Amino acid sequence: MKKLVMIGNGMAGVRTIEEILKLSPNQFEITIFGQEPHPNYNRIKLSNILQGDTSFEEIIINPLDWYKENNIQLFTGEAVTKIDVEAKKVISDRGREVEYDDLIIATGSNSFILPIPGADKIGVTGFRDIKDCEMMINSARNYKKAVVIGGGLLGLEAARGLLNLGMKVDVVHLMPNLMERQLDPIASSLLKAELESQGMRFLMEKETVEIIGDERVAGLRFKDGSHIPADLVVMAIGIKSNTMVARESGIYVNRGIVVNDFMETSLPNVYAVGECAEHREIVYGLVAPLYEQGKILAERICGKNSTLYEGSVTGTQLKVAGVDLYSAGEIYEDGTIKSIMVYNEYEGIYKRVLVRDNRIVGIVLYGDTKDSTRLFRMLSKKEDITEISIFESQCSAEGGSGDIASMPNDELVCGCNGVTKGAIVEAIKTQGLTTLDQVSHCTNAGRSCGRCKPMVNDILAYTLGDQFDAAAAQKTSICGCTTISREDLVAEIREKGLTSVKEVMNVLEWNNEEGCTKCRPAINYYLGMIHMDEYKDDRDSRLVNEKIHANIQKDGTYSVVPRMYGGVTTAADLKKIAEVAEKYEVPLVKLTGGQRIGLFGVKKEDLPSMWEELDMPSGYAYGKTLRTVKTCVGAQFCRYGTQDSMSLGIELEKKFERLDTPHKVKMGVSACPRNCSEAGIKDIGFVGIDGGWEIYVAGNGGVDLRAGDLLATVKTEAEVMELTSAYLQYYRETANYLERTSKWVERVGLEHVKEVLANEETRKELNARMDQTLKRYIEPWNEAIQSEDIKDKYYAVHTVKAGE
Ligand SMILES: Cc1cc2nc3c(=O)[nH]c(=O)nc-3n(C[C@H](O)[C@H](O)[C@H](O)COP(=O)(O)OP(=O)(O)OC[C@H]3O[C@@H](n4cnc5c(N)ncnc54)[C@H](O)[C@@H]3O)c2cc1C
Ligand code: SF4
Repeated sequence: MKKLVMIGNGMAGVRTIEEILKLSPNQFEITIFGQEPHPNYNRIKLSNILQGDTSFEEIIINPLDWYKENNIQLFTGEAVTKIDVEAKKVISDRGREVEYDDLIIATGSNSFILPIPGADKIGVTGFRDIKDCEMMINSARNYKKAVVIGGGLLGLEAARGLLNLGMKVDVVHLMPNLMERQLDPIASSLLKAELESQGMRFLMEKETVEIIGDERVAGLRFKDGSHIPADLVVMAIGIKSNTMVARESGIYVNRGIVVNDFMETSLPNVYAVGECAEHREIVYGLVAPLYEQGKILAERICGKNSTLYEGSVTGTQLKVAGVDLYSAGEIYEDGTIKSIMVYNEYEGIYKRVLVRDNRIVGIVLYGDTKDSTRLFRMLSKKEDITEISIFESQCSAEGGSGDIASMPNDELVCGCNGVTKGAIVEAIKTQGLTTLDQVSHCTNAGRSCGRCKPMVNDILAYTLGDQFDAAAAQKTSICGCTTISREDLVAEIREKGLTSVKEVMNVLEWNNEEGCTKCRPAINYYLGMIHMDEYKDDRDSRLVNEKIHANIQKDGTYSVVPRMYGGVTTAADLKKIAEVAEKYEVPLVKLTGGQRIGLFGVKKEDLPSMWEELDMPSGYAYGKTLRTVKTCVGAQFCRYGTQDSMSLGIELEKKFERLDTPHKVKMGVSACPRNCSEAGIKDIGFVGIDGGWEIYVAGNGGVDLRAGDLLATVKTEAEVMELTSAYLQYYRETANYLERTSKWVERVGLEHVKEVLANEETRKELNARMDQTLKRYIEPWNEAIQSEDIKDKYYAVHTVKAGE
């Protein structure tokens, strides 16, 4: 098998690998290095994360299990620093060497940071990756005043996000008009007025010359001598292709890594794709052209009859609520260009099409972009427009199928992924698709920025005619292997009495008989939730960490985290942990955030014997289950404590440990409102007050920071246990698999949950089902120690691949 190595684990690179796998799934042994510590995620949606519309988990395009399923060796958090072109191998910053027959460089870009004094101060960032987003979100918690340098697409999206995070935001722009490369002055002024009405403030024609402050940024100084205060500065003035590795390895680099029409660099068998590549002197910064490049490169690398990449025309939209704009092609008139223009100042609608020799060469639309796809088709196909009416909306979000009917088949619907109406209609007809989600899965339409989804929905309605069910179309199937949604799946399992993952997939006619890493763990969970104590868990359907009962680390080793109920331990247990750590030469022993001790860097084959020697239960640090119950010292030792937080924490942890839940569940118990266990940001948090306990729910301390909501105030520990059990069981029965409690409560509504739990009869029934379920669980580490089969099957000595 040929060895294919890819440097960069981002959007363009991984899409290229997807295309390669489609064309020739077994041709290559694939290794990917990604500098970021994550699997491939949808960078486009970082703006949505910042604006609070989505979570990081929701923007992951290829989860770790996808790499495993496709036998891809993935090294995350590891950068390639050198390509040894003679020996045909890459070398990483950890000294890892991997040989290649073919090498793809897909290193993307970095934010361009102004080379001015103070640019390295704390509180100055670009806007490129999840780390930048986290930095901004954290800053917004402690600081109030943000300045975004750059009034382009990224800058305005960042500014909107920072406003949503509660900061005051000034946008500093060098030019007199916002987004001057995409918008003409009229569209730009409409945009500015809208954003000002949303609370953004603009400083136009200002050149920043210095970032002022001590260690942390305190403000900006401009060329005209004026200055403004700032606690956070986001530089969004452009991107710079990431070409260092290529350049240092002798590959020809100009602005980007120079490639020909097959995406080949100046070295044989070395290719470049994405924002790091320069093709015919253009470096593209939007995914549509990069995905086109990926497709052509995949054909080339698989030895298929490859088409040439001849460059792309791109269209731009802004992902800011309340702003509808579109721009493509040339936007300024010269002697050879004339404009067709409509300007409805009253409604804030502006449309302008630039025409040269009867052909559209540029489009600027503000306030109403329904014509964008049709005009873009005319632009890219260089259609003669003499006989055509330019501004007639062909389709709209609410639009009927009449609009779709008049749309030609070759009209582009999803600009990011290059999907036409014809391709969507064909997929709907030939594959029996009925939901938006299925269309997206089959055709890629809507998989990137998502703005085309209303139109895809209209195409579904038009194609299915009477068969179209608007509510069903919005249902999300649990994965691409089926058209079934979560609600229907649960109902079918109950109704048909299905008892195993295989049976579910057979009876409900999965289109992929093996299922995938998305649906198999979900079905296994729903079966276990429904059949309570009767269900025989299907270990092979679980996510990889749950299958192994240990968390895989980025270098392919595992972690061992024994249970410490309520964060309380003993000298004897500490001794055991120390001895085991010493004997197995564990590289890292660390206190975790959940008040226990983690042993990191463990070899897979050592896991069972370490568990045996520890003789402690699994802490389930890897599972969709109760993780920890963090406690404060409480009334036993603390002079402020009014309640016994440790006992309650231990009781809760002992009762609910091992329980399968849709996602991980964390709890915290504090014995007084000083709340040292941070119970307010736990899935369930308990705060002792005089004469009782307050119970908080749906808190989250991770990326989607969320303070818990008060569910109830109760008097006794028995009431705490009863209400917690009912709440957890209701969550188990109604949440989607992989839905955190915070998202679930937001979806179903806190008042609804309160109402359900207020009914004593319902509470009793929920408690009974919980108790029945809890009977089922056995200690997994002990089970592995006892069973030679399990040891052989899951812990046999073999070389472990990262991402496994
Ligand atoms: C906030 C934001 C909003 C956006 N919105 C849109 C939009 O609406 N529409 C649109 O079309 N595009 C948008 N984009 C642009 C789009 O995300 C990029 O065009 C796309 O991600 C580029 O893909 P890529 O694979 O070339 O680079 P990337 O996705 O950046 O991936 C490159 C990866 O390579 C890694 N890497 C770099 N060097 C090394 C090394 N030496 N070793 C290992 N790994 C390395 C990087 O860490 C990175 O993870 C947006 C971008 C941002 C930041
Ligand atoms: S939460 Fe209250 S009782 Fe618990 S440790 Fe803190 S101050 Fe003491």
